Amino acid sequence: MTDCIFCDIASGEMDADVVYEDDRIVAFEDANPQAPVHLLVIPKNHIESLEEVPEDEFDLIADIHKTIQKLARSEGIAESGYRVVNNCGEEGGQTVGHVHFHLLGGRELSWPPG
Ligand code: C5P
Repeated sequence: MTDCIFCDIASGEMDADVVYEDDRIVAFEDANPQAPVHLLVIPKNHIESLEEVPEDEFDLIADIHKTIQKLARSEGIAESGYRVVNNCGEEGGQTVGHVHFHLLGGRELSWPPG
């Protein structure tokens, strides 16, 4: 175990309902879902937040978004629509210090967020 729960999920040391995995990315069910579909998509390597992504690692962020597009299709929410959220930093509402993207769908989502 490390001091990062998402690193522990990525390494398999902590249980999660993993729905997708490749050599650099893991996607799993959010433990406290806010919509019928609520997945978290993360890089396996530890990056604290979107703000901390190194300039030369943005291909990883692009791959995460490609994965999100595939997951939206496989989860059956691509046609009805969905939301992708990244909370960055304290005032952005980030509570876990390992960059992650929420994929939410399966119900009508309101706007703006709080
Ligand atoms: O964007 P933010 O940092 O607030 O989101 C963290 C998310 O991680 C929350 O939606 C929370 O439910 C989820 N979480 C989880 N499993 C954990 C700890 C947090 O799915 N063990």
